[in-house]
Amino acid sequence: MSFVEDARAGIITDEMKQVARQEGVTEEFIRRGVAGGHIVIPVSPYRKVKICGIGEGLRTKVNASIGTSSDIVDIDMEVEKARQAERAGADTLMELSTGGDMVEIRKRVIASTSLSVGCVPLYQAFIEAAIKDGAVVHMKEDDLFRITAEQAKLGTNFMAIHTGINWETMKRLKNQGRHGGLVSRGGAFMTAWMLHNEKENPLYSEFDYLLEIMKEHEVTLSMGNGMRAGAVHDATDRAGIQELLINAELADKAQAEGVQVIVEGPGHIPIDEIATNVQLMKRVTNNKPFYMLGPLVTDIAPGYDDRVAAIGAAISSSLGADFICYVTPAEHLALPTPEEVYEGVISSRIAAHVGDMIKLKKTRDLDLEMGHARRDLDWARQFAVAMNPDRAQAIRNERMPADTDACTMCGDYCALKIVNRHFSF
Ligand code: SF4
Repeated sequence: MSFVEDARAGIITDEMKQVARQEGVTEEFIRRGVAGGHIVIPVSPYRKVKICGIGEGLRTKVNASIGTSSDIVDIDMEVEKARQAERAGADTLMELSTGGDMVEIRKRVIASTSLSVGCVPLYQAFIEAAIKDGAVVHMKEDDLFRITAEQAKLGTNFMAIHTGINWETMKRLKNQGRHGGLVSRGGAFMTAWMLHNEKENPLYSEFDYLLEIMKEHEVTLSMGNGMRAGAVHDATDRAGIQELLINAELADKAQAEGVQVIVEGPGHIPIDEIATNVQLMKRVTNNKPFYMLGPLVTDIAPGYDDRVAAIGAAISSSLGADFICYVTPAEHLALPTPEEVYEGVISSRIAAHVGDMIKLKKTRDLDLEMGHARRDLDWARQFAVAMNPDRAQAIRNERMPADTDACTMCGDYCALKIVNRHFSF
């Protein structure tokens, strides 16, 4: 039986118990969530991982995507990125290499992390076709499904699969145009392949076969967002909505077949459209776990896109997004470094926490503790609660005041110290 089928049969697995403990909810809550398709726990029969639950009633989780490009292939650097992502507190990792020996790189990254790992099998299928046969449009359908199964056997826990791009979606895209073009690599590969071969997307037309592979290897299916907006002026457009409707229907089918499923969302969205996007996603997918990519809330801050995405992610999370994909400061500019991966994860973790303070009120406990620690000038307690204690401690140590109770911001005129002398809170 698959994980979903276990849950439906009333079986509470060890993984469900672990998630219940982590989240402070009952085991039955988790079992029902998995059975009903509102919670996923990406597992793999091929590899033990640090278990994490994603979905309704759970903390917002953060994914870090890494991987080589055709220009920069450095396996050691990718392994270091995996290490930095885990050190910074990412919940999952996506290995998205498109350059070098993609199989070897994936094996090394998977071996170097205890996190659940996601991948996008069509990258390898299209890129191998480009290398062997001269162009991505020569990709063979059998190769796509073979590579999907091979990647599952490497111990990947979830896969982004671009099922929602079909002729209907393409018609919408053609009729409406786009300000920011098509920014999804998977979306671009599949669109080019369909137009050149005049054939339907095999991930859509052979969805039943895809589900067999997902179920056999217990991979969580992440319905890919190939039409996501790459510019705020394209947010919530017809092509994106069309793809969402197709993905929502297929996600129901996957769930019914006993496959765990997540639905991906956009992209670039101005703040006033985030609520609409989250509500629409949740409504049409029957409350499946929602994986928000960013969203970036403005297009004009390259170099700071981790912060731009964190603003969107915090709002999305507060409204119900369950899983957010980090963005690094290098987004739109270059392949990120390990340091930028670390920064990106921290920015996203802040966003997830800010969102959870609204979505799950109980997570405000740490903020209360920090408030008290600051009031009491208890620096050890402040660092213990801090999201990144090393950075906080390093900044303070660099500019330590003469009076070690206060800090160099106000020095002798530390407001807390002055009032604490005369007033007990
Ligand atoms: S010196 Fe100012 S900023 Fe620093 S702890 Fe005191 S009140 Fe806060």
